[in-house]
Amino acid sequence: MLTSPIDEIKNRLDIVEVVGSYIKLQRAGANFRALCPFHSEKTPSFFVSPARQIWHCFGCGKGGSIFNFIMEIEGVEFGDALRILAQRAGVELKRQPPELRTQRQRLYEISEWATRFFEKQLEGSSLGKEAKKYLLSRGINEESIKKWRIGYSPDTWEGLSNFLVSKGYKKEELEQAGLAIKSDQGSFYDRFRGRIIFPIFDLNSQVVGFSGRIFKTTDPAKYINTPNTLIYDKSRILYGLDKAKVEIRKKESCILVEGNTDVIITQQAGWENAVATSGTALTPFQLKILKRYSDNLLIAFDMDLAGETATKRGIDLAQTQGFNIKVVRLPEGKDPAETIAMNPNQWEKAINSAVSILDFYFETAFAKADPKTPEGKKEISKILLAPIKRIPNKIEQSHWIQKLAEKLEVKEEDVEEELKKVKLEEEIYGLEPEETINLPHKTRKELLEERLLTLILKTPQNIDLVNGEKIFYFSPQAQEVLNKLRENQTPDSEFFNYLSLKADIEEVAETSSHLPPRSRSAIEEKEILSEIQFCLKEIQSLEIKKKLDQISQEIKKAEEEKDLEKIEKLIQEFNQRAKEIT
Ligand SMILES: [Zn+2]
Repeated sequence: MLTSPIDEIKNRLDIVEVVGSYIKLQRAGANFRALCPFHSEKTPSFFVSPARQIWHCFGCGKGGSIFNFIMEIEGVEFGDALRILAQRAGVELKRQPPELRTQRQRLYEISEWATRFFEKQLEGSSLGKEAKKYLLSRGINEESIKKWRIGYSPDTWEGLSNFLVSKGYKKEELEQAGLAIKSDQGSFYDRFRGRIIFPIFDLNSQVVGFSGRIFKTTDPAKYINTPNTLIYDKSRILYGLDKAKVEIRKKESCILVEGNTDVIITQQAGWENAVATSGTALTPFQLKILKRYSDNLLIAFDMDLAGETATKRGIDLAQTQGFNIKVVRLPEGKDPAETIAMNPNQWEKAINSAVSILDFYFETAFAKADPKTPEGKKEISKILLAPIKRIPNKIEQSHWIQKLAEKLEVKEEDVEEELKKVKLEEEIYGLEPEETINLPHKTRKELLEERLLTLILKTPQNIDLVNGEKIFYFSPQAQEVLNKLRENQTPDSEFFNYLSLKADIEEVAETSSHLPPRSRSAIEEKEILSEIQFCLKEIQSLEIKKKLDQISQEIKKAEEEKDLEKIEKLIQEFNQRAKEIT
């Protein structure tokens, strides 16, 4: 029997592995759980069931198959998710006619063809060979050149464009992919000319953009990069993360370096948990992605902590978000690539002796001013108060307050007093990681309904709480589930499927309470009961408020029509209903 590519992909890929490549999963009985990547939460309500090959979040209600997961997390449509997973599973998709392929898909294809073109140029053309010699001389070996798909763009105006046009793409599309530039005369020319090309990959190792570096000429622009396109947004991508993510999770730390070459050489030397910020500040989005893999950051680039640079702002933000940050101290003026080239042992030593960012701030501040003089004390505290204020953990924060007071020989209370006056930049501008991500939300009522049904499924004896006309406060799907439960039937509506992974509910309940099946304590029973009552009350008052809104609309209409009798009746009904909200 022929299977569809969708089934084939489902057969070949394990949901735990796919989801696990994006977020940290923890075993919880037969399932896995994690902090939900789609809403903010402190305790994990995101579950993956390997048995059923599905995922579900009890917090925000999202769930489904690996396809839904990829659509959500990559922010793509189904066709793109299919393509991403097909590639991963090694399933070949039938080539669709070009007009049916989405625009995004075509940009991915263009980027892939361009990468192959550049790779070939590096091997084949005479200037390409020189570029390769240069790379080798910088310490990037053959294997890394292949792994990172480094290429060379010929020093011509239309070399790449002509190649891509011959593959069936329009020049306008090359412009959309960031590979061609439209001149004032309306003609197109290649953006990257005579440069070493580093393709930029997304989390699935698909090429989405390029960074071109000069190696012979004295072009003032050392690097040029793809502008933002439909598939490339530099604020969302960390160079090398696709290759580092597994190691970051394994080693429980991520090394941050500045440039492409640094990442390549650091990974080549065995530190495969390195990624590059590409010289820009860390954005809330990038931090959010990093947080899926590890909370520990090792910063391996020069940073002026007293200055107000974009890089420092990114690090500040990471600190506010509770990352544990350590600073790797490199030999004066050297970057990771140079340090490793000089002596890999020295690099290893630097990594192992990285100091916490607060220690680093203390060193910097106390080296800058004299803690014996009042002016010195003031200057030192000026550098240190903001980073201390940023520490989200109060106990940790109090440790540093004590240390500062001690070293400055002042009273702790005075440090605390001054700390209160400090305004953090991220507080002023409200830099929240969420602001970059828009998530569709379920209504409050839907969430309450789901929660209530889940609880009743755990403790079916409580079904009688939803008695009398209370059932009419629920959506038709929920009513169906409730009716079936009442008749002791196994509910089997679509809503229920969507709701809570059926059989997994019990497991979820068990694993989250760590109790053997069906032996909850009286206290727990009581807690469940009061939560059911709470949900019920909330659903009821939401419905009543909705009804009240309706009535007041009707009252307005009746007033316009001057229908006194009707107004009277409606007001009575309104008052009666309003009393039901307790
Ligand atoms: Zn969620």
